[in-house]
Amino acid sequence: MRNWGLVVPAIACALAIVAAAAAQPPGQLGYDDTPMQPNGRWHIHDGKRPQPKIVTPGVKNVEPIPPPSDATVLIGAGDDLAAWQMIDGSPATWSMKAGIVATGKGMMRTKAEFTDFQLHVEFATPSTVKGDGQGRGNSGVFLLGKFEVQVLDSVNNPTYPDGQAAAMYGQYPPLVNASRPPGEWQTYDIVFAAPRFAQGRLDKPAAVTVFHNGVVVHNGDAFWGPTAHRKIDPYTPDTAKGPITLQDHGNPVRYRNIWIRPIADREASER
Ligand code: MG
Repeated sequence: MRNWGLVVPAIACALAIVAAAAAQPPGQLGYDDTPMQPNGRWHIHDGKRPQPKIVTPGVKNVEPIPPPSDATVLIGAGDDLAAWQMIDGSPATWSMKAGIVATGKGMMRTKAEFTDFQLHVEFATPSTVKGDGQGRGNSGVFLLGKFEVQVLDSVNNPTYPDGQAAAMYGQYPPLVNASRPPGEWQTYDIVFAAPRFAQGRLDKPAAVTVFHNGVVVHNGDAFWGPTAHRKIDPYTPDTAKGPITLQDHGNPVRYRNIWIRPIADREASER
């Protein structure tokens, strides 16, 4: 016969653990055993860092935003993934239908490489909300294949601030949280300047300006180095150019309407 004297406390204990997890204070969201970031203010993925203020974006992105006439379309309206390949160079295997691509097995990168550019990306995290923190709607846009602008479902989903949607992952949280609800199309408009090297040494770090759903979330902010988890890797000259890479983090995130406009080097320009 079942011993309810043991079962009931066990259920109560399990419920208490669930309640404690749901009510986890922000201070326990991330890590405090990681290295300090280079400016000495926060640990990498510090859960105590202030959560960005929530801002409701003014523009509801229902229809794809058409590219300017000189843009290179990376994901267009058809079923064409010709601009892409898997990270190991094999043909792109992500599912692509009527202009919508779904994350698949492994990271997918553009065949072309870039340095400075304007990049437009539209994405949607799953409408069926599943998982928590870094496990909910996680993907990412890796600039030059090295510098991640995080994709995550950040509506009612606390995580360490430098890992939420639109974060420069592991480095800077967005200025505000301008996320749209799961399942809705969202936009990133990214202006990126590649790092510069002189005699093999870093001369100027990579810098990025990002608009999330039309709201500025990074303002010419410099990356401390290539993106990494629980650490920051050093700059090396091979970070000076690279592809646009989309992350497969095991969550079914969708992308559409991705286009890019390379920007001429400021010093080399005749403007
Ligand atoms: Mg990610």
